Amino acid sequence: MLRITALGGFKEVGRQAMLVEAGRNRFVFDYGLNVQNMSVPLQPPPDLDSVFLSHSHLDHSGCLPLLYKNGYQKDVYSTGVSHELSELLILDSRKVQELKGMEPLYSYQDAELLQRHSKAMEFRKPLDMSGSRITLFDAGHIPGSSSIMLEDGEKRILYSGDIGLKDSFLMRKADTSYKDIDVLLCESTYWNREHPDRHELAEQLRSHVEGVVNGGGIALLPCFAVGRVQEMLCILHELGLPIYMDGMGIKSTKIMLGHRDSVRDYHLLKKAFSSARKIGKSSQRMRAASRPCIIIASAGMMQGGPIRFYMKRLWKRDDCSLILNGFQMEGTPGRTLLDTGRYTDEGIDVRPRLQVRFMDFSAHAGRTELLEWIKKISPGKIIPLHSDTIDSFVKELKEKGFDAASVGNGENMEV
Ligand SMILES: [Zn+2]
Ligand SMILES: [Zn+2]
Repeated sequence: MLRITALGGFKEVGRQAMLVEAGRNRFVFDYGLNVQNMSVPLQPPPDLDSVFLSHSHLDHSGCLPLLYKNGYQKDVYSTGVSHELSELLILDSRKVQELKGMEPLYSYQDAELLQRHSKAMEFRKPLDMSGSRITLFDAGHIPGSSSIMLEDGEKRILYSGDIGLKDSFLMRKADTSYKDIDVLLCESTYWNREHPDRHELAEQLRSHVEGVVNGGGIALLPCFAVGRVQEMLCILHELGLPIYMDGMGIKSTKIMLGHRDSVRDYHLLKKAFSSARKIGKSSQRMRAASRPCIIIASAGMMQGGPIRFYMKRLWKRDDCSLILNGFQMEGTPGRTLLDTGRYTDEGIDVRPRLQVRFMDFSAHAGRTELLEWIKKISPGKIIPLHSDTIDSFVKELKEKGFDAASVGNGENMEV
């Protein structure tokens, strides 16, 4: 018997989590947090055997300490780099919960328990657990990201995790060498959207940034600390312009550099990182904001972090440019700025004079890649997730001749 129960993130983006029951085993794959509204997944049964984490992003890892708070005492398996990165993100998220004035979801002790129970796995080295075999495949999304395959002797299911199906400037594309998949649990973030060609986009970014900085301005890039900061470094390094890094991206890059194989070109990232100037205190921040340069700062959707400081200093300057370069969730200052042209955050509400651009450097597969990959795998059944328009995608997959179904949070499916 194999049964999948959606605990979160199936018909939505955020708080990704599922319970997988295979024979006598009960597993949880991912236990994430919706960072926008801070909602958490449904609680799994208490007698879990193991937890597997696809990757470190908080929408997949952010509620793992909650499992320990609720009495879980066993291990969480993932790649080594995913464990280190999620530790960084989770501790930061815990701090943010306090800053927001909310009742924290878990204690620092719960987060520490998680660290103590973090077990590292390598790609393609299966782990056997009383009748179930689990294998991680490189998912090409961010360093350490995995697709999780479970075999129980009869059936083989694959949970894609967030997946990148094309090479980026940071990552090799996903390893998709698995075969004979009975059930595919498939991230569908961009099932209805294509991404622009990455090389062309990188060229546009370089020439835009070069124009701004050579014109005496500052190119400001709000970036997600895990994945995007590093790709921007790899793309912009060759311009030879001064690059400042501010925020959590400094620590996360160090973690990645400790795992050479987790990125496509270790030497490029290392070179780009060592030549960037790292900002640690506010006097350095002031200096960076008063000379022509590139500033890579968190947070990616501008919902906190040092980017606030730079926006407050630079919004009036029409020789500067703000380049949003990743997913902007509804309700975040980044998204509001794109939708309305106004920057609103912490009591500020202004129409910035600096240029605002959006460049789609997504780390998720776009529509064509996703559909080609699904066709190649040709699974017995598809359960799409990680999108708020799942039902339309299911309809399309059925029209294409696939057996597809949507599962809502709290619902389960026997396979
Ligand atoms: Zn992700
Ligand atoms: Zn995700």
